[in-house]
Parts: sequence; C-alpha cells; structure tokens
Amino acid sequence: MPQERDGRPDYTVRMAKAAKRIGIHLGTAGGASNAVLRAVEIGANTFQIFSASPRMWRAPKIKPEEAARMKDLRAANDVGPLVIHTSYLVNVCSQNEEVRQKSIVAFRGEIQRALDLGAEYLVLHPGSWKGLTRDEGLKLAGDSIEKSIDGLAWQGTPFTILIENTAGAEFSLGGSFEQVAELVARLRNHAPVAVCLDTCHTHVAGYDIVSAEGYEETMKQAASTFGLEAVRVWHCNDAKAARGSKLDRHEHIGKGTIGLEAFRRLLNDARFAHSAFIAETPEDDPSDEEKNVNALKSLVE
Ligand SMILES: [Zn+2]
Ligand SMILES: [Zn+2]
Repeated sequence: MPQERDGRPDYTVRMAKAAKRIGIHLGTAGGASNAVLRAVEIGANTFQIFSASPRMWRAPKIKPEEAARMKDLRAANDVGPLVIHTSYLVNVCSQNEEVRQKSIVAFRGEIQRALDLGAEYLVLHPGSWKGLTRDEGLKLAGDSIEKSIDGLAWQGTPFTILIENTAGAEFSLGGSFEQVAELVARLRNHAPVAVCLDTCHTHVAGYDIVSAEGYEETMKQAASTFGLEAVRVWHCNDAKAARGSKLDRHEHIGKGTIGLEAFRRLLNDARFAHSAFIAETPEDDPSDEEKNVNALKSLVE
C-alpha cells in the first residue's frame, strides 16, 4: 500500500496501522502552521483548525511559504490528518439566493485553502433549510457543494469533504444519520465526500451512545446508513445538555452527560481504527487543551 501520495504522507492509509490519532481544535495565531507545534507541545498527533476567520466572508489566500512550513512541520513530527473546519457563516442550503451564492464562493475558498495546506479533511455543517422543505434543503446543499468544488484540483490528493452530523435543531440539516447519508450519496459521484460524527451532536440529537446496548444500536444505524468506514473523524465532545435535548453545548471530556466510559468504548472500537479523534471542548483555561487530549489518550487500551 502506498505510504505517500503526491509527496505527502497518506494518513488515510497509515492511520489504520500507526498509533491512534488523537487531537483537538487549535488556534492559528501567527499562521496556520504554528498549530503543528502547539499540537506537538500538548501531545496531540492530529488537529483541527479554521483556515481563516470563521466569522468573516472574505479570507486571504494561503501563502506558499506557510503551506510549505505546514507540510514540513507535519512530516517532521508525524502529525496528521490535518482537519479544517469550515466557517460558521457558510450555509450551502440557504433559501436566500444571496446567502447561498456567498456560501458557494466561501466554501470554494475553504476547499482551495485546504488543498493549498495539504489538508486531508474539510468538515462542513450541512446548513439550515429554514423556509424550505427538508428535501429542497438537501438538494440545494448537494448542488451548492458540487458547484463549490467544480474545477478544483482535488483528484490524486487525499482531500475529502466530511459532512458533520448536527445537534438536530429545527431546520438544521444533518440531525439524523439518514440525512447525512442522503447528502453523502448525492455527492458521491461529484466530490470526495465522507462523514464526521460529533459525539455531543449525536447524543443531544437523541442517539444513545452512553449505554453499551444503546451504543451498539446507534452504530448499527450508522452502519446501515453511511457505513462506519465513512466516519473519518469523530469530534469528541462531552455534552452539557441531556440526550435528546437538541442543545449543542460542548463539555470537557468526562465532565458531562456522556461520560468517560462512552469515550473509552468509542476510542477502543476496532471499527473506527481508521478514524481520527478530535476534541472541540471549551477552553476555560489555557491548560484545557492538553487536559482534554490527555483525557482521551488515557482511555486508549
Ligand atoms: Zn463538531
Ligand atoms: Zn457542536
């Protein structure tokens, strides 16, 4: 099996064999590549970043020297996959034509920056279909994503768009595994696409991942919709709110309504040996990043 594609380490292949990939969402002050050094500092071997301000439509291009430094630092420290989270402003299924067009342009920029940085994964929330039917929303989301990537040079790279499941709030697309699967299926022939599951979103959307039987049942549903192999990234977040509450409030690992045992089961589930585990936990204190990474690492058997 190839260890490299286009001169970059191929983590999608290597992860299954190498050490478990555990990391956290990191800041990018002073340049995106600085996050690699921060990851190493806190004992993470993968991480997630925003490639631009998540609250601004306009984003600068990635400088070639920054892209090169990212690649060199990752290779030198064996850090990956690199996961980029799309800006919160992007809503690819908005009923508002102007917002949707801006979203397509912005998401195209996200894809270009991810390719420039050599990222394996770009996580996207499928958006809000308020004012439409869910089916119309799904169709718009699929069409918009297809337009965003059209003509960009992703072939031959490990780059993959990951559709993230959501907390299931009203009008938000992706609150059920079926909706995530439907979007993935629509896009499969037009774009490299797979899945990111968030433990907090899964839990508050109503799926049981806490009890042993509930976990198995939930995985059975995941297997019969998009398939477990499609889950490339698990966002590991404990939850402040109850199962089924649809309230998306992330909590430190082991301190919420999901609890350590559920994370232990997930991290040691051989069916996810190919997945990266990335926390998006609160940062109440600068030491919290390392604490949450350590909490996850300590559960690996
Ligand atoms: Zn998430
Ligand atoms: Zn969330």
